[in-house]
Amino acid sequence: MATTPLLVSPNSVLANALLRSVDLLRPRVHAIRPKRIAFVVGTQINGAPHLGTNLVQTTAFLLAKIARREFSVETSVKFGALDNAPYDVVLDPETHHAYQQTYYHSLGKSGVGALIDTYYRGFFDSLADATSTDYELESYTDQQAAPGFRAEFLRTLERLDEIRWWMAPSHGIVHTRLPCPECGWAEKRAERTRLIHLDEDGALFTAVCLDHGDYEVPVDPENDTYLDLATLYRNLVKERALGRDSRTLYVMLKGGDWAFGCQLVDGALTVLGTPGSHMPLRIFTPQVLAHTGAKLSKSLLRERGEDALPADVEPWMLNTTAWDGNTDNYVDALIWLVAELLSDPKHFFRSFTVKELGRLMSNRPADLEARPRAHEMGIYKRYFDLIKAGTKTTEIRVNDSSRARIRSGDLIRFRCRDEEVLTRVTRIARYADFDEMFDHEPVSSVNPTATREDQLRNIREIYPPEREALGVVAIGIELAETPQGQNHVR
Ligand SMILES: [Zn+2]
Repeated sequence: MATTPLLVSPNSVLANALLRSVDLLRPRVHAIRPKRIAFVVGTQINGAPHLGTNLVQTTAFLLAKIARREFSVETSVKFGALDNAPYDVVLDPETHHAYQQTYYHSLGKSGVGALIDTYYRGFFDSLADATSTDYELESYTDQQAAPGFRAEFLRTLERLDEIRWWMAPSHGIVHTRLPCPECGWAEKRAERTRLIHLDEDGALFTAVCLDHGDYEVPVDPENDTYLDLATLYRNLVKERALGRDSRTLYVMLKGGDWAFGCQLVDGALTVLGTPGSHMPLRIFTPQVLAHTGAKLSKSLLRERGEDALPADVEPWMLNTTAWDGNTDNYVDALIWLVAELLSDPKHFFRSFTVKELGRLMSNRPADLEARPRAHEMGIYKRYFDLIKAGTKTTEIRVNDSSRARIRSGDLIRFRCRDEEVLTRVTRIARYADFDEMFDHEPVSSVNPTATREDQLRNIREIYPPEREALGVVAIGIELAETPQGQNHVR
């Protein structure tokens, strides 16, 4: 009897050009040969996340894991916590201009930190653990304070007359919000914010506060005035700044609705003369849609109330803290889901209704919760067979960031094509290079069938000198007992 596939997706222009989803990175990786790849994901810090947000974040961690193996480079995740999201908006009773205050200005650094800890810290730590991927977290407040970001912003002002139509095609007024130094409120649409002076040392703006009247804001690369840029402008400056780094390839992970908005950012990047090798590389993740085809939206719910809720939406999809299970359990389910989507470009580069995502989630493997978390390593067949036979008890790898996470007692799942074997780490030893390693490790425990010289030659064919330069880790392994069914073949 033929089995029905879990997921059926039609072909698309992009999917037709790719064998695997991660191949979208390959042209740029080949062109610039980066030392590392950082997957960048930004999220508004404004309460409990919904499924769409967590899907983008999970994709970042999973792609970091896949790209690390695919391109033999270090990878990591860079999480931007957008604490400039509006916390409160009021109307000036006289002019009817809207004023807003950011989360940062309302709650302070510690209040924002508490929100991040509540909604994201445990989730990210769990994702990092499950994918052996390091992440760093940067608030928008820290990002705008960095000299590189501020200098890039000042450079865009030199071409403001051209980029403003890309940033604001309907009226040409760029929303550069410069909060009042006394109260922290800023005009939402910056109608009365003026750039009055610009030279190589910096810029001077004037703006109007609803309580404190006219004020001046000097901006230079190192001063501490606050730059609250509207969404498109913030992305323009961020992508320009990140594009200058020739050693790290930054990959922007964005929800699918951004595919439309990025046309405007690209127009502005072109006006600024951004070279092709500095143009941002972006991956758009599947959108989560209501049955009408509209994006699942928390703000729409806030405006319209529960009536706007699609009938098919499950409570945890809107507020992921409502998930019936712990964080690791939620993360493992999401990783399974995103891995299924990434497994075929036809599945990944498209949108999903909440109903379809609910169906997929309820079809996840029944033993997912019982499966132990394990580091994963691909391995050649001849070594796989030796591990499975229990005669290879030392595995050798270069000491990149994912290996640095391995601890004695952890599990490692070795994969070779359709086979896998689960092992437990008995000890860890680190060395400067393969020669030093073989001075200390019994040659036969690495490979009982080859001499030291043969093994050195083989291993150096696998790892070029720049990889060996990371250092070498020798991992003691033994076969792990697994409950029935867990060590199944995928
Ligand atoms: Zn004020």
